[in-house]
Amino acid sequence: MLDHWLSEAWRLVALVVVGVIIGAITGYYSLGILICIVPYLAYHLYNVYQLDQWLRQRKISELPEIGGVYEELYHSVYQFYRRGRAQRRRLTDLLSRFRKGTAAMPDATVVLQSSNEIEWFNHAASRYFNLRAQDVGKRLDNLFRHPSFLKYLSQGNYVQPLLVQSPNDSQLSLQIHVVPYGDNQRLLIARDVSRMQRLEQMRRDFVANVSHELRTPLTVLTGFLESMSDNKDEKISDWSHQIDLMQAQASRMQLIVQQLLLLARLETDVGPPRKNPVDIPEMLKAICSEARALSGEREHDISLDSDDSLWLLGNHEELRSAFSNLVFNAIRYTPPHGKIHVTWKSSDGGVRFAVKDTGIGISENHIPRLTERFYRVDVGRSREAGGTGLGLAIVKHVVQRHEGILKIDSVLGEGSEFSCEFPVSGVIAPPRANDQASTLS
Ligand code: ADP
Repeated sequence: MLDHWLSEAWRLVALVVVGVIIGAITGYYSLGILICIVPYLAYHLYNVYQLDQWLRQRKISELPEIGGVYEELYHSVYQFYRRGRAQRRRLTDLLSRFRKGTAAMPDATVVLQSSNEIEWFNHAASRYFNLRAQDVGKRLDNLFRHPSFLKYLSQGNYVQPLLVQSPNDSQLSLQIHVVPYGDNQRLLIARDVSRMQRLEQMRRDFVANVSHELRTPLTVLTGFLESMSDNKDEKISDWSHQIDLMQAQASRMQLIVQQLLLLARLETDVGPPRKNPVDIPEMLKAICSEARALSGEREHDISLDSDDSLWLLGNHEELRSAFSNLVFNAIRYTPPHGKIHVTWKSSDGGVRFAVKDTGIGISENHIPRLTERFYRVDVGRSREAGGTGLGLAIVKHVVQRHEGILKIDSVLGEGSEFSCEFPVSGVIAPPRANDQASTLS
């Protein structure tokens, strides 16, 4: 390659020398050099023009027959072009295989642009969302107008998936994930979870039915046990210890059945609870005095700091059950004379209920699983304390139904804090005395 450039350089030198000789003969050096150089420049100009024409072809097919430096130039450009073409073909192949793969995927995939315009979708997406080829470029939120989907898409927080019914088939439950990527683009993936939902529903129904069926025989059993323990007959009083044990176990079973039924109700009732103004400060006073009675000889130091001007819109029974569970747990898992502090105060985003104790605490690895039903750090201890393992599962559901968040902070051996934060939208001021009077009348 270097040879061509060297001979080109020599050619130029030779031309200049010829030009100088002509200059020496005629006495006009500049003219002599010009006469030799101009055809040389014209030759190169022509070749550059040819190169430009060659490069402008739609498809560069073959190398022209040409020698010298231009042969090298054409060759390098041609190699570069072929490498680019091979790479482009590989990429197109990859893209088309990727598209074929995604198109065949059982999960629906939709590529969305910044304003929710559809850029591409696969077969499953057309089935689940009723999309057609002409919908490319249209906004997905104009085509699928389910309120929770619109809210989910616009909020921009896609950590949790969304569960919705398909607009094409109400029997189809879809779990939607949105993955932001690239330049303001998003990938929407929808999976058919109908089977899982049906199984989950069957599990819920089963637990609810079993609990319901157990309720009547348990009531009969506890009734008989009660009359036996009241009976002063000598034959029966020999069994008094066993009867007491049976009574305790029957009450435990009754509590489990009652809590399972409550959980089943909370799970089935997916919508928000019917909301009424709830006097939380008054409720907490009552819970704290019940807690003192429960503490009894263990003499816990129970204190309450509540803002009486903060009421909450919600379901009285559900909130009472959640808050009392947390306060009674603090009593159960705090040694005698320990401190339990209950607060109800406004916080940054709304209002916060918290129970802080100086109890046994919980090690970090247990915390994420505490709200699973029947999950207990120490099963023996929980049973001994009269626990069922269902309390925190109930609390979590109630708090979620009131759009709140349950937080658990704990240090093993030092104590725990269970807190529930509710959004400001649920907070209301207590009704004035005459409002209450008119409501009562
Ligand atoms: P249980 O009826 O067993 O108390 P919960 O669902 O209410 O069931 O609580 C689950 C587990 O969480 C308990 O068994 C206990 O191990 C732990 N736990 C709950 N509250 C506290 C607390 N305040 N301090 C320490 N451990 C606690």
